[in-house]
Amino acid sequence: MDIEAIYKSHEALLEGHFLLSSGYHSSRYLQSAKLLESPKVAKTLTDELSTKITQANLNIDTICSPAIGGLIAGFSLATSMEKRYIFTERVSLNMQLRRGFDIKQGENILICEDIITTGGSAMECAVVLESMGANIVGFACLANRGFCKTTQDSTASKPNCTLYSHLPLFALGNIRIDMHEADNCPMCKDGGTQAIKPGSRAN
Ligand code: ZN
Repeated sequence: MDIEAIYKSHEALLEGHFLLSSGYHSSRYLQSAKLLESPKVAKTLTDELSTKITQANLNIDTICSPAIGGLIAGFSLATSMEKRYIFTERVSLNMQLRRGFDIKQGENILICEDIITTGGSAMECAVVLESMGANIVGFACLANRGFCKTTQDSTASKPNCTLYSHLPLFALGNIRIDMHEADNCPMCKDGGTQAIKPGSRAN
């Protein structure tokens, strides 16, 4: 499955000059919500992801996503795998488990995102669940940005990957996108355009 081609064909791989939430600038941006507006597409993708995960024979009770980005991918994966589904969310920047969701001691949880870049939100989600007694068994995403090592990759994670290195990361594939520090962005240096925050306007 060519996940980059799928994002492109659904106009979910945007080209431009973007300001990412990390502060970095990039010329391409993945808008997973646009891809997942079709539940049928979402199901096709997570059925495939489910197959990969099932082959690893993990013991999974529950799938959990960090809101908002991971919600649709995670719910669809839980549907494909017939697992319980919960999510964490930010309250004043702190990741929390709310909505009456509870965690059993030793509950085996797989964390699912739409995109894994360095894994920051996924790890915040993992830490909250672990503090409540969960056992995190792995991570999953539709597309990996190439900073973290997936189960298919032969090369190691880059130093800025924050995911637990002893746990597997399942992805449909990698979509590598360069990021530039704001002070060192070639598009800013060329002049003309200003970096736009995706989601803030027509994005
Ligand atoms: Zn720039």
